[in-house]
Amino acid sequence: MMRRSQASRAKPKVSLSFLSRCRNSRETPLKHKPKLGQNFLVDPAACVAIADALGNVSAQTVVEIGPGRGAITEILARRVKRLVAIELDRELAPRLRTQFAETPSVEIIEADVLTVDLASLREGEEKLAVVGNLPYYITSDILLRLFEFHDVISRAVVMIQREVADRVAASPGTRDYGLLSATAQLYARLERVLTLPPEAFLPPPEVHSTVLRLTMRPRFAEFGVDPEPFIEFLKAGFAQKRKTLAKNLRAAGYDSARLAAALPAAAISPLARAEEIELERMAALWKNLSQEN
Ligand code: SAM
Repeated sequence: MMRRSQASRAKPKVSLSFLSRCRNSRETPLKHKPKLGQNFLVDPAACVAIADALGNVSAQTVVEIGPGRGAITEILARRVKRLVAIELDRELAPRLRTQFAETPSVEIIEADVLTVDLASLREGEEKLAVVGNLPYYITSDILLRLFEFHDVISRAVVMIQREVADRVAASPGTRDYGLLSATAQLYARLERVLTLPPEAFLPPPEVHSTVLRLTMRPRFAEFGVDPEPFIEFLKAGFAQKRKTLAKNLRAAGYDSARLAAALPAAAISPLARAEEIELERMAALWKNLSQEN
């Protein structure tokens, strides 16, 4: 019997089936479920670009979030050591199992991705690659879940709403910078891969979509902060966008006198908002406030 790793390397010499899969997404009538964020990708070049953005995955397990009708799955199946695709839709999951029945590198899990222990999907100590045209209604939750599992993930290529990508990748001091940007940038290096118009999907969403590549590179050690309390501190600092950082921190229970001393020590104006301050200075402030008296 062929072992899984051998079987998964047995690839057809030439297969353009992914192109027909992308086209079929347009042709085959299939009820989509807007509540599950089902906007299927029907642009073959975009499917390839997303798979390409993952890089070489021939020795890696790839986790696909929301494979849908398999447009991206079809391409990756021929490139990976192993692909675990997590689909919540109880009609799509069995359909995918049939579609990939002859492809031993592909496993379909019918589940809510937010409940799956991603670490358990690894073979040995390997790091996972993650890919997905994400269901937009839970984009932030999925990103936070990926950060939670940052130590078992090497990189992720995700399609998200363009405006959310702008927020995730925003720089401090710009309109889009906020808690999501700060958190994402604490865990990962971010690169925009491409942006697609609504017509690339069926049915077309009302928004443009952007593919982001996240290369996990946690910065807690560099900043000398403990992950959990520092993230709680960030949440407190960003709690109310209109308020200053100092006011938000006082509302969270930080002592006024200590803040008055710690803010200038971290080169932060008492009138600054959290959105204006880069992670280095936030970390300096947290460390100062966390010191024993
Ligand atoms: N990957 C396909 C494509 O690009 O055409 C489908 C992408 S579609 C935007 C999002 C997919 O995520 C749908 O198939 C949807 O059923 C699935 N989905 C929605 N919520 C999910 C969840 N909580 N866990 C796993 N999959 C989910």
